[in-house]
Amino acid sequence: SYRKGGYHAVRIADQFAGGRYIAQRKLGWGQFSTVWLAYDIKTSSYVALKIQKSAAQFVQAALHEIDVLSSIADGDPSNSKFVIQLIDHFKHTGPNGQHLCMVLEFLGDSLLRLIRYNRYKGLPLNKVREICKCILIGLDYLHTDLGIIHSDLKPENILLCSTMDPAKDPLRSEQSPILERPEGNINGGVTSLIEKRLKRRARKAVAKISGRRESMGGSGDLENSRRVDGIDVKCKIVDFGNACWADKQFAEEIQTRQYRAPEVILKAGYSFSVDMWSFACIAFELATGDMLFTPKGGQGFSEDEDHLALMMELLGKMPRKIATGGALSKDFFDRHGDLKRIRRLKFFPLDKLLIDKYKLSVKDAQEFSEFLLPLFDFAPEKRPTARQCLQHAWVNCTESPPNEKENESAVNVGMSNLKIRVGK
Ligand code: ADP
Ligand code: MG
Repeated sequence: SYRKGGYHAVRIADQFAGGRYIAQRKLGWGQFSTVWLAYDIKTSSYVALKIQKSAAQFVQAALHEIDVLSSIADGDPSNSKFVIQLIDHFKHTGPNGQHLCMVLEFLGDSLLRLIRYNRYKGLPLNKVREICKCILIGLDYLHTDLGIIHSDLKPENILLCSTMDPAKDPLRSEQSPILERPEGNINGGVTSLIEKRLKRRARKAVAKISGRRESMGGSGDLENSRRVDGIDVKCKIVDFGNACWADKQFAEEIQTRQYRAPEVILKAGYSFSVDMWSFACIAFELATGDMLFTPKGGQGFSEDEDHLALMMELLGKMPRKIATGGALSKDFFDRHGDLKRIRRLKFFPLDKLLIDKYKLSVKDAQEFSEFLLPLFDFAPEKRPTARQCLQHAWVNCTESPPNEKENESAVNVGMSNLKIRVGK
């Protein structure tokens, strides 16, 4: 991908925007871009520099993302809405073409990393709650104030607010930014010899950790601390490459598979509530360490059909009107609203799943499912809004004593509808 129209190759200490930003190390990449930690000599602070591929369609996409990010920044001058802030943008010409660059506030590791560093065991519910609050405030701002649908919410696209000084990366012993000044230097005492040594050392450090860090992205705070409990769980929503204004939609197929809402699969039209579906999937994943829906195609049925079956096994049968109401409904459902090719479903309700498989206490499981289930309503317009979620008891609950033991036998978790799934 490092060719004409593709990524711009960056070396440590490369300069951007007439020398204002100086590349320090790679933070991550996406389909469209590479993201670098850079030092901003104007404000003496670290920023994230997102450098887009240069081909026309990527330039177009970046212009759109800058448009969305600008309205986000304009509407939130105090930067208190848990959404990434755009600081600056410019063009950079390199051997592979002209790249649009976005300067963003520097954030920490993604929620995906947080989940992985907790060894997929799930986070304590009070941390899940704290993270959910941030996401909900961000979504309420996007939906209510700006009319923007994110349309690709997932753990990779929620980043923790970094608290660690990036210069104090333990992999680098010197603690000043890497500055490239051929003649006379701006940093007073930094001689070119020291600069060279810094660059060499930083390169080694990057090489040593490149594989995992680059593919998962992030600042490495978790890797360095190895403690999830000590992490401040404030976080922000990022990656507006797929976002749209609700009244100016351009894509039919949106969202990453596992976080995709049923109306998107059925092509029945969508709105803000697709983000609420993804949000609920993320909340479950934070609490359990597992993705909620991981559909797979099989013999005689597609990935889409398996996905719809998994949803119904957890949430009950889809109302006939909804099942048959989308442009693609006929591919999946008969006129009674039953799946054509997956005939028997094995129903397994959410609270029971949380208790049996994930060992939540009955009380925690029931409170958590009471919060999540309305968000998984098959009727998009019935899903609570982000603002309504912020009022919910589960979000506002103050921590209950930790070792309150549940009485399993006293509670009926309801398995009236258990059938055996065949053909899978
Ligand atoms: P793409 O649109 O190409 O998917 P993203 O905006 O998702 O690009 O960024 C790619 C990766 O770069 C992210 O997954 C994350 O690891 C890292 N990243 C992006 N923005 C920041 C930021 N502001 N601070 C720190 N890391 C970031
Ligand atoms: Mg991304």
